[in-house]
Amino acid sequence: MLKKGLNTGDCWVEKLKTSSREEINEIQLEKIKKQVSYNYKNSIFYQRKLDAAGIEPGDIKTWDDFHHVPFMDKDEHRAAQEESTAQFGHPFGMLACAPLDKIVRLSFTSGTSGTPTIYTLTKNDIKVTNMLNARKYRFIGLQPGHIVINGFGLSMFAGGVPVVDALWDYGVCVVPVGAEARSRRLLESAQLIKADALFCTPSFAEYLAEQAGDVLGKPIRELGLNFLVCGGEPGAGVPEFKKKMEEAYGTRLFDINGAVQPLHCISCDSDRYYGMHFLSEDYCYLELIDPETGRPLELTEGVTGEQVFTWLDWEGTPFLRYRLGDILQIHTDPCHCGGPGMRIKVIGRTDDMLIVKGVNVYPSAIKDLLVKYMPRVTGAFRIVLDRPGPKVEPPLKIKIERGEGLEGSALDKLKHEIEEDMSSVNRVRPEIFFVSPYSLERKENKTQYIELDPNN
Ligand SMILES: [Zn+2]
Repeated sequence: MLKKGLNTGDCWVEKLKTSSREEINEIQLEKIKKQVSYNYKNSIFYQRKLDAAGIEPGDIKTWDDFHHVPFMDKDEHRAAQEESTAQFGHPFGMLACAPLDKIVRLSFTSGTSGTPTIYTLTKNDIKVTNMLNARKYRFIGLQPGHIVINGFGLSMFAGGVPVVDALWDYGVCVVPVGAEARSRRLLESAQLIKADALFCTPSFAEYLAEQAGDVLGKPIRELGLNFLVCGGEPGAGVPEFKKKMEEAYGTRLFDINGAVQPLHCISCDSDRYYGMHFLSEDYCYLELIDPETGRPLELTEGVTGEQVFTWLDWEGTPFLRYRLGDILQIHTDPCHCGGPGMRIKVIGRTDDMLIVKGVNVYPSAIKDLLVKYMPRVTGAFRIVLDRPGPKVEPPLKIKIERGEGLEGSALDKLKHEIEEDMSSVNRVRPEIFFVSPYSLERKENKTQYIELDPNN
C-alpha cells in the first residue's frame, strides 16, 4: 500500500516489530548515558541539578541509577528562563545545551497558564523531529501525491509551522492555510484543491463540520477527505467524539501527538479507539510514575500513571525526566491492527485527579465508561464534591443525565449496572444520582466535570 523509497533511512518502526522490550531498553540506556553527560557538560541548569543530587554523569550505569535523577516540571522550566534573563539578558542561558548560534527554531507551549515554556531546536533536532513525524504519516498511509491542509494555528504553536515543515519534508503537498484563516477560507480551499487530508484540533474539526452546510451548501463528508488528523488538545481519543467525526467527515479520524515533545504517537486505522502507537522510543524514554509518590510504575498492560519523559539524542534543550502533568494509560498487549509498539491513551491531567480511598479516579475514565450506556444516559455528568479534591471522602457522588423517557425500575436497574461497572472497572463504588436530560450546562471549550456541592 505504501510507496517504496519513502524515508528509507529510517527503519525504527520495522525494528520495533522485531525487537524485544529488553533490546529497546538497552538502546535507550546507552543513549541516556550519553545524554546525561552531554547535558551536564553543556547546561548550567543540569550541572547544578545533578550536582545537588550528588550524581556525576559517569555514575549512570543502570536504570536504577538513572531513576535517581531528579524530575523537572514546567515551574522549574519557567524559573530557569527567568533566572537566565536576569543573568544573561535572554531566557536560554540556563537550559539550552547547544550554543545560541546553533539554535535555529524556538517552539513555545501554548501558554494557557503562566509564561510559555520555550523549547530550542538545532538543525539536527529539526531533522530528527521531521523524521519522527514522518513515521506517523507513513504509519497511517499518507503518501507523496496527497494534498494536506494544515488547519492548526500557524502562529507560535507547535502544530503550526513545524508540522508544515515536517509534511513538506515527508514529501506530501501541504497547504498551510492555518486556523487563523476562518472556516470559510479553509473549507473553500479544501474544496478547490480536492484535499486528501485535514490536520487540525478536534474542536476546529467539529466547528468546520458544523459550518460546511452554510459555507459549501453541502455536508463536510462530500469534500471527500481521506484522512482527518487531530491533535493539540484532548478529544480525538474520546470514542464518542471519534465516531461522531468519522460519520460527519466520512473518513477515519487519527489521534496524533508529538510536536515539541519527543513523544510521537498516532492511532491506527480502526473503528474502535485502541490508543496511539508510540513510534519514537529511540528518541524518547517514557516513564510512568505514581503522581503522588513519584515512584516509577512498571509498564505493563493497562497501567495508568503520570507521564515523565527524557529526550534521547537531542542537542537543543534535551530535558531529563520532565513531568508535564499528563496522565497516560499504556497498553503493551499487541494491537489487533498488527502495528508495532506500545499504545498510549491520554487519560487526563494530574490537576483533575481525585483519590478515593487510595484509588486514583479521573473524570475522563468515567466519561469513557458512560459512553457504553448511551442512549440510556446522555453521556453528560458531574462529580459532586463536598470539599475540594484531590482526596475524596467516600462515596464518590456522581450526577448523571438520564436518557429521554427513562424512569422507575428501568432507572433503578441502570443505577445498579453503572455502580457495579464502575466498582469493577474503576475500583471505586460511586453513589449515582440521575438528573433530567440536557439539564447540565454545556460549554463550548472545556467542560468542567467536577463541581463543589454548594450546601457544604
Ligand atoms: Zn493499532
